[in-house]
Amino acid sequence: MMRLEGKTALVTGAARGIGAAIATAFVENGAFVYLTDIDDPTGQATTENLGGQARYLHLDVRRESDWGAVMTQVLEERGVLHVLVNNAGITGFEEGSHVHDPEHVSLEEWHAVHRTNLDGVFLGCKHAIRTMRQSASTGSIINISSRSGLVGIPGAAAYASSKAAVRNHTKTVALYCAEQGLPVRCNSIHPAAILTPMWEPILGDGPEREERMREFVQDCPLRRFGHPEEVAAVAVMLASDEAAYINGAELNIDGGILAGAVAAPVRSQ
Ligand code: NDP
Repeated sequence: MMRLEGKTALVTGAARGIGAAIATAFVENGAFVYLTDIDDPTGQATTENLGGQARYLHLDVRRESDWGAVMTQVLEERGVLHVLVNNAGITGFEEGSHVHDPEHVSLEEWHAVHRTNLDGVFLGCKHAIRTMRQSASTGSIINISSRSGLVGIPGAAAYASSKAAVRNHTKTVALYCAEQGLPVRCNSIHPAAILTPMWEPILGDGPEREERMREFVQDCPLRRFGHPEEVAAVAVMLASDEAAYINGAELNIDGGILAGAVAAPVRSQ
């Protein structure tokens, strides 16, 4: 079934990982998709694999001028934007220091994570609302937050803070659009432990890789990493008209990690 037939969508950070999986699922469901990223060669290669229903554009989510240019181009070429997925995000561990606890993370690294993860989502929502208003279409904005936006993460303070802010801003955008009488919904997805290139600096490629992978999923009830396609399936649902009454909601895709608590009492034998 083509659940997104006739829709035009834009996905940020779509060169690889979850963004690429979402763009692929959208095309498979009949949408025309703009894949955007800062990694142009990878973004272009991913887009070429998707055929004529996909187009690649450079978009650094931190730069408002990029958002303006991309939205203008979308309106010129398609006349409408139905779906925006604010997916681009960084952990802060890509190249910088691995020290991101609240006592030691530098102000510079704190800001760098927030600029991509929070400013990028703010700018995306702002420009999508304006574009969707102009194109007078129904719209769906999907913000990729994280499990880390719902619980504290001592070793990744900036990441957790930025993702928590994304969760809250999603609800503000949902309420604002409703107040304005705009038929634009806004929801957040909260993945955890989805095996993508984002994990590479954390897992490494040494002999301890397998052990580290096991450690990371030992608190996951399903005892495995998730697949990017499992996040994409939920994004398709939120982008489609089947989700017409889902607004300001948060959906966890975490194998059940957030369903319980490590501090839960255990019955003695
Ligand atoms: P990846 O690192 O695999 O992919 C992210 C993509 O975003 C990369 O192509 C990256 O380009 C691009 N990107 C980085 N900065 C910018 C920017 N300023 N503007 C545009 N594009 C940018 O990440 P994932 O696919 O794993 O994650 C996607 C989203 O899902 C993120 O928001 C992440 O926080 C969230 N998430 C992921 C989880 C997981 O377990 N994988 C769990 C919870 C949330 P480049 O490679 O050049 O930096």
